[in-house]
Amino acid sequence: MSNLEQTLSIIKPDAVERNLDLEIKQMFKNNGFVIIKEKKIQIEKSEAEKFYKVHETKPFYNDLCSYLSSGPIVVMILEKKNAVLANRELMGATNPKDAIEGTIRKKFGLSIDKNSVHGSDSLENAKLEIDFFFKD
Ligand code: UDP
Ligand code: MG
Repeated sequence: MSNLEQTLSIIKPDAVERNLDLEIKQMFKNNGFVIIKEKKIQIEKSEAEKFYKVHETKPFYNDLCSYLSSGPIVVMILEKKNAVLANRELMGATNPKDAIEGTIRKKFGLSIDKNSVHGSDSLENAKLEIDFFFKD
């Protein structure tokens, strides 16, 4: 099938800590995503710094990297037609306050930093992010 894409999704510490991972995974499946690979891990702050390097000049970078490495996360490869955009739509806006009804961040996000999920923002970054977590 053309446009069949893979994207990287992370269920962030705030959601794993509240035991929302099964419910969030079910939302992906209900929306036609296939979970190709998944693992529950905790990363070092230095790894979070590499993962979020694109944000290194932002004022929130240090807190963001501390946060992502603060507890267990669930990292997944999601597959679907146009998966990158479809996942961004299902996630909702970065700030849960701006996220629309039916999105993961509207339902579960606590704040702009504790917003429950990460998703790749382009096909190119999806490939890089999948490699980052799943290249053996
Ligand atoms: N973030 C934050 N403060 C901000 C903007 C972003 O803490 O003002 C965090 C938030 O967790 C977000 C992540 O940094 O998910 C990456 O930011 P990005 O703009 O890439 O948002 P996303 O792609 O996750 O929607
Ligand atoms: Mg982003």
